[in-house]
Amino acid sequence: MVDVFAKCRLPETYQFVKELGVYPYYQAIEERLGEGEVVIDGRVLVQAGSNDYLGLSGDERVREAAIEATRRLGTGSGGSRLSNGSLALHEELEARLAAFLGREAVMVTSAGYLANLALGTLIGPGDTVVGDRLVHACLIDAVRLGGARLRRYRHNDMGHLERLLDAADPGAGRLIITEGMFSTSGSVCDLPGIAKLARAYDARLVMDSAHDVGLLGANGRGAAEQHGLEGAIDLQTVTFSKALGTIGGAVAGPEEIVAYLRHYARSVVFTAALSPACAAAALAALEIIAAEPERRHRLRATAEGLSGELAAMGYAVVPSDRPVIAVPVGDDLLCFRLWRELFDEGVFTTAMISPGVPPGQALIRVSITAVHTGTQVDRIISAFAAAGRRLRLIPDGPEARTV
Ligand code: PMP
Repeated sequence: MVDVFAKCRLPETYQFVKELGVYPYYQAIEERLGEGEVVIDGRVLVQAGSNDYLGLSGDERVREAAIEATRRLGTGSGGSRLSNGSLALHEELEARLAAFLGREAVMVTSAGYLANLALGTLIGPGDTVVGDRLVHACLIDAVRLGGARLRRYRHNDMGHLERLLDAADPGAGRLIITEGMFSTSGSVCDLPGIAKLARAYDARLVMDSAHDVGLLGANGRGAAEQHGLEGAIDLQTVTFSKALGTIGGAVAGPEEIVAYLRHYARSVVFTAALSPACAAAALAALEIIAAEPERRHRLRATAEGLSGELAAMGYAVVPSDRPVIAVPVGDDLLCFRLWRELFDEGVFTTAMISPGVPPGQALIRVSITAVHTGTQVDRIISAFAAAGRRLRLIPDGPEARTV
């Protein structure tokens, strides 16, 4: 008999990493102390790994909206959107998001993952999906769900994308998938290049704006707004778990496509609708994003300062004003050791290894938020200086600025 559970043994390296004390995952946060700080194992750390880029998860107005919706409507939705879980609040959020994004229609989902998974409904065997090498796992899962053929181009490499489009069966459907701002590198997609190729090859274009909505573009509509190319995108997916500070997701696009997804996307039809608290929090967060552009301006300035400091220290960081700062390390174990050194220095970052990033390209991901204080940023800088020197990742140099 073949036991399907037999494979469920974690590799020896897992045990080894645990014994070394450098295992970075499933760290339980005991408390959140005000903005930008968490308590883990009784210790106060700077939270430098959160996607809550604008700090809205802790904003009083957003919290109050969630509490009020919970009082009025309860903690759950009671069913899927299709059957009995649809709330007027969901519809209000969909209308508000459609207006904000400038799209005809929006369908709200219970997570960003589920919004992307819904795209699998639009493709089938025979179709070719061409995606950036760095696109998120949920876009890959959507392609698997749809049974389409997946081809991946080197990150932002337009020559490679063109070759793959050229090789695709012209008699079948073609879809290009990209992220607006990439979650692991912080880089922005080459939308002008992608849009041009999509037109030339009659391919549909989907952009996952998980990390750029609320942050990029003059109005925070994302990478497409920043490029002035919103019309080039057929569908835009969004998650509420980053800049909007809550949980949930959405697909935005033409009415006809969204209506189809509402009835056929399995990740919508067969799962409970978004909770009232999350829907109300997302609505409140959208209002703040529209009314307080200074949040994203502050975030950009902080990110620019921190990435510049890390690069000057000797890390292979590309300075930019985007909140995701990727610190390349390469080797998985070295990445875990750096993560642990930073943790010991009081800074909680994210260690990313394959399959989160390509094999051999492990990195520490730092995310900066609009609510990090100057003192907290200084603590991140001194932690990287001390940890990097101890591990000989950066040259010895003048003492980093101390707190
Ligand atoms: N897309 C991207 C690019 C992401 O990084 C993530 C989550 N990290 C998702 C989608 C999924 O979003 P959620 O966590 O809201 O399910």
